[in-house]
Amino acid sequence: MRGVRVYLDHNASAPLRPEARDAMLGAMALTGNPSSVHNEGRAVRALIDGAREEVAALAGASPSQVIFTSGATEANNWVLRADRWGRIYLPAIEHESIAAPAAETGAEVVEIGAAADGVTDVGALAAHVLCRMPSTGRTLCLLQLANNETGVIQPVADVAAFAREHGLWLHCDAVQAAGRLPIDFGQWGLSSLALSSHKLGGPSGVGALIVDKDFPLKPFVLGGGQERRRRAGTENAIGIAGFGAAAAAARREAVATSRIAGLRDRLEREIRTSTPDAVIIGTAATRLCNTSAIALPGRGSETMVIKLDLKGLSVSAGAACSSGKVGASRTLAAMGLPPQIARGVVRVSLGWNTSEGDVDAFIVAWRDVARGEHVRAAS
Ligand code: PMP
Repeated sequence: MRGVRVYLDHNASAPLRPEARDAMLGAMALTGNPSSVHNEGRAVRALIDGAREEVAALAGASPSQVIFTSGATEANNWVLRADRWGRIYLPAIEHESIAAPAAETGAEVVEIGAAADGVTDVGALAAHVLCRMPSTGRTLCLLQLANNETGVIQPVADVAAFAREHGLWLHCDAVQAAGRLPIDFGQWGLSSLALSSHKLGGPSGVGALIVDKDFPLKPFVLGGGQERRRRAGTENAIGIAGFGAAAAAARREAVATSRIAGLRDRLEREIRTSTPDAVIIGTAATRLCNTSAIALPGRGSETMVIKLDLKGLSVSAGAACSSGKVGASRTLAAMGLPPQIARGVVRVSLGWNTSEGDVDAFIVAWRDVARGEHVRAAS
């Protein structure tokens, strides 16, 4: 029999919130297509509209700007394929769901590096925009709000102001920041923004693309007139209901981020005491309250993750989106981390249901695993 598990991998997927579960059970009890005009259809439509308001409120957007998608991967892909971009500014630390479609566009892709603290080199971006010949087509700039591996927060509001001034479109992947940082889509003047439900404690397989009315968004799923003719297909009402409830809960408890920050800071203090050679990544920058990327130089992150798992602790080795397939981390490479450190990074990410006891359990398990593991010299 397995003992009690401690789940500290919210950046990969947060546990389902009770509010989201209840909302989904409520949605399952309904019958009807939200496009139907009868009573049943209208009830489903009302549920989707309510969720749309909650998601819009979380992002500081208006409900008409929210398009529900199958997740943030779809939202990010869509923006890259939305237009024939002439030039794309691609920070090296962006998620694969941005970097992979960017490479397929045929646009001129200008990669923007990061400083050692994990913050995108916006000076290099500005210098390129100001000094190079303007692109023949439209220019898209990408900038995530916070990094999934390190939690390092990026200067999105400043870059949005610069982008507006210079006629660039700015898409922001806010997946990891939503519910952990205030987001103001309207005030910042973003062109588009991606959200994912399962990082907030909603179900997987649902997310949103939020778009400014002027954004050149070409629908790529054609058919019916759903989502104001922007994305065809009968809506995933159950998933959307769960997403809406998770967004509402995340917004209500945004004040509790200081509780999570307190837990994360204690965890890091204890790690530094028990393993003084541990390197905590990104501490020179401002980070999300919940994320800690910790390396033990010369240790293998996968081995650490497996040993922690055997002790009942769930954490990730580097980026966990493709867990089981731990490759070199583009983010850590962009920060210039030496390979013997980058190979040993374990990501711990806390969230809405993390308790003091969970942190205590991690600290004990970490100390045991770190003491027990003497890795052969890193080759
Ligand atoms: N962007 C970031 C920063 C992410 O961390 C993730 C998920 N790991 C995604 C996009 C993709 O989101 P989804 O799982 O909803 O497709």
